[in-house]
Amino acid sequence: MTIEHLDRHVVIVGASLAGTRTAQGLRAAGHTGPITLIGAEAELPYDRPPLSKALLTSDWSEVAVAGVRLASADELAEAGIELLLGQAATSLDTAAKQVGLAGGGTASYDVLVIATGAAARPSPWTPESGVYQLRTLEDARAIAQRLALGEPIVVVGGGFIGTEIAAAAVGLGCPVTVVDPLPEPMARLVGPEIAGSLVGLHLRNGAETRFGVGVADITGSAGDLTVELADGERIAASSAIVGIGSVPGTDWLEDSGLKLDNGVLTDGRLQALGVEDVYAVGDVARWPHAGRGADVRAEHWTNASDQARYLATALTQGVETDYASTDYVWSDQYDWKVNAVGWRDPAGTSVVIGDLLEGKRAAVVHADAAGAACGVVTVNWVRALNQARRLLMAGESAETIADALRQLL
Ligand SMILES: Cc1cc2nc3c(=O)[nH]c(=O)nc-3n(C[C@H](O)[C@H](O)[C@H](O)COP(=O)(O)OP(=O)(O)OC[C@H]3O[C@@H](n4cnc5c(N)ncnc54)[C@H](O)[C@@H]3O)c2cc1C
Repeated sequence: MTIEHLDRHVVIVGASLAGTRTAQGLRAAGHTGPITLIGAEAELPYDRPPLSKALLTSDWSEVAVAGVRLASADELAEAGIELLLGQAATSLDTAAKQVGLAGGGTASYDVLVIATGAAARPSPWTPESGVYQLRTLEDARAIAQRLALGEPIVVVGGGFIGTEIAAAAVGLGCPVTVVDPLPEPMARLVGPEIAGSLVGLHLRNGAETRFGVGVADITGSAGDLTVELADGERIAASSAIVGIGSVPGTDWLEDSGLKLDNGVLTDGRLQALGVEDVYAVGDVARWPHAGRGADVRAEHWTNASDQARYLATALTQGVETDYASTDYVWSDQYDWKVNAVGWRDPAGTSVVIGDLLEGKRAAVVHADAAGAACGVVTVNWVRALNQARRLLMAGESAETIADALRQLL
């Protein structure tokens, strides 16, 4: 779609970060045609990162909840964005250019943007009650109510979301045990150096960990659960929070003919492979990542927001180049702010700068198997992050980046 098509009807399915920012971006870039934003949740669009952080320990006042909204109903109406909330898309007919809706209705489009994100990977353990998962505002509210009891919690899954929930639970006085079959669960995301320090951080703050051992079963009910581990240990808990990854929101596209493989496969410009006028953005999109030489589905806030901005520009003004990700992600745990830019090659090498044990200010510079700098992770050190990001973008070597960060210490 180029400038002469500014009046076409854009239907966006998924009214969260990627969908809302695409709609707003289209208007800001001069799109004049109708824009319809369809969301399965009845909630106005909201932001998810605070759900595992500040909001969990907040007072859940109107002000606190309003703080996570991405846009108000008035703002969207003023921008001429039609909002259809509480209406899940159930099918897509690309020949008729129509989206089927759960209520039986349809939405016709000229251009379709798929922004259906991801859902929590369902818990394989389903006792009568007491198992919680976190993806939505409603999930966060239910978990916050359990944490407010100050009773023992088992968090299953030591990724970012699980460990952020663990940190919030510790802060609220709950005895917490984090379980994960991997010995250093966050290593895949931040590398073994910082992953090891994060384990230490949780232990210092009073959380217990059972890493390197999986969950065999969860039985009982809320207030009286037993989490049985693969090595036979039984942990009593009031609630279990299961954070074992997510699955892309593509169920409704199964019969659409779109190419689906752990997300909607797109080309470098985020157009669904081989299908005119259909695009995907955010956690649901799997696009060819030029830097990594592979198709990637990212589950990070900045990627969803950047893809929305890129697509809004592409659809209104046209773009010269493919989408290029900044690969930026952050996590807040206790008093640690972990930021990562780029990626880590498991076959590559890493250099540590600063003091990772105390976590005062530290960074790890990653090089890939060929020796080229590919990523940097920082702890409580935003200046280093910004510097590293610039140097990575400029194509500097890992040694140059490491030297520059040492100068900052
Ligand atoms: C608890 C939590 C904490 C996070 N913290 C961080 C963080 O600290 N840093 C970071 O970088 N990232 C973080 N993330 C990830 C970040 O929030 C996501 O990358 C971002 O939300 C992706 O936005 P999205 O719009 O693509 O997808 P989503 O936010 O998943 O939104 C998709 C929307 O589509 C709707 N939908 C799904 N199917 C349908 C359908 N068939 N019809 C209509 N609507 C549908 C869903 O209800 C949902 O509202 C966190 C995520 C969670 C859950």
